[in-house]
Amino acid sequence: MEIQAPKGTKDMPPQDAYKWHYVEGVLRDVSKSYGVREIRTPMFEHTELFLRGVGETTDIVQKEMYTFNDKGDRSITLKPEGTAPTVRAFIENRLFNEAQPTKLYYIIPCFRYENVQKGRLRQFHQYGVEVFGSKEASIDAEVISLAMESLKKLGLKSLSLNINNLGCPKCRPKYNEALKRYLEENYDNLCGICKTRFEKNPMRILDCKEKSCNEITKHAPIILDYICEECDSHFTEVKNYLDALKIQYKVDPGIVRGLDYYTKTIFEILNDDFTVCGGGRYDKLIEEIGGPEMPAVGFGLGLERLIMTLEKEGIEIPNEGLVDLYIGARGEAAKTSAFVLANKLRAIGIKTEINHMGRSIKAEMKYANKIGSAFTTILGDDELQNKTLKLKRMSDGEQFEVSLDNIEEIAKLVK
Ligand code: ATP
Ligand code: MG
Repeated sequence: MEIQAPKGTKDMPPQDAYKWHYVEGVLRDVSKSYGVREIRTPMFEHTELFLRGVGETTDIVQKEMYTFNDKGDRSITLKPEGTAPTVRAFIENRLFNEAQPTKLYYIIPCFRYENVQKGRLRQFHQYGVEVFGSKEASIDAEVISLAMESLKKLGLKSLSLNINNLGCPKCRPKYNEALKRYLEENYDNLCGICKTRFEKNPMRILDCKEKSCNEITKHAPIILDYICEECDSHFTEVKNYLDALKIQYKVDPGIVRGLDYYTKTIFEILNDDFTVCGGGRYDKLIEEIGGPEMPAVGFGLGLERLIMTLEKEGIEIPNEGLVDLYIGARGEAAKTSAFVLANKLRAIGIKTEINHMGRSIKAEMKYANKIGSAFTTILGDDELQNKTLKLKRMSDGEQFEVSLDNIEEIAKLVK
């Protein structure tokens, strides 16, 4: 019986891979222009990292982690997100001793045991950016600008930016009290999970996806009415910087984001279908994971959802041709020459193919056409004797005669 890929995972066959190369290329280029460098961390971590770093009241920790004991009986978890591992690596590699800020990015697979649906997989991919060391509002705006610029470079127009401020450990308890007073009256109608959140982290209830909970939280008090002066002026500054860059946004007091660690600024970039990018400031996380007290801000951007949005908007993703030159051959001696010539051309970067299927010349040319070869040529006794090749440009049928030994000239012509 045929074995299928596990539910919620997707192969990336060659006819899709070019889209990923293109998108990742744009993201890497934009990162570079913002002085953001790549960091790579392991695919799995000690479970403890996510318990502490993501938070015990989050969906991720409560329902979604791929956790198992390895043969040494350690509890291991496949990365459900990139922030906690990046913070761990920042601390472990003592990057906090270097000149700050530290600007990092990653492109990683993430693993979450989710209910599989459109835009919701069990292995998905994220482009993430984390900036450590600066508490200034300009860095919040810079990180948001980097996300927006990446989407703009890819040609996306339908995405909107929502921002909010979640306060800090000084002002949030007051809000939590107000929220609890409000929710108390409707406690019985909350879903089971939200009942457990009520004591530990009532704000998480605002992010619940259950309809019954949404009904209750619709008219809940909003955090912006409770934030302290420091958080309020930080938020004003972030908005001023965004205005200075002419980045449009909406303040949405309803967004709280799925993770426990956020403080002050949070943001989401979304379309009608889903959130593509989410992030914000998390000034307490580095300390929580055992590092020094140090502010931080970042985001995660889902690549499957990004590519789905590109396709929905009809944005064409550039696809490089597969083959520059197809060399057909008549007879054994010609095949060996074609074989050698192909390798010489490949060595200088020309995408070259020859016949490995015992096809007739006619079938070869049909095949060359099918794979979209830009040029074709046929090597036979005549060509070998005269040491000349006729290269046919497939787009218009024009022929070019070149010396068989002049590799550079062939390369120049077909490139
Ligand atoms: P959601 O509210 O949709 O569950 P989230 O708050 O769990 O999202 P984050 O943890 O902030 O998402 O991850 C950042 C981004 O990663 C999301 O905006 C989304 O684009 C992507 N993402 C998250 N979970 C999945 C998933 N299961 N499948 C595909 N993409 C995902
Ligand atoms: Mg989620």
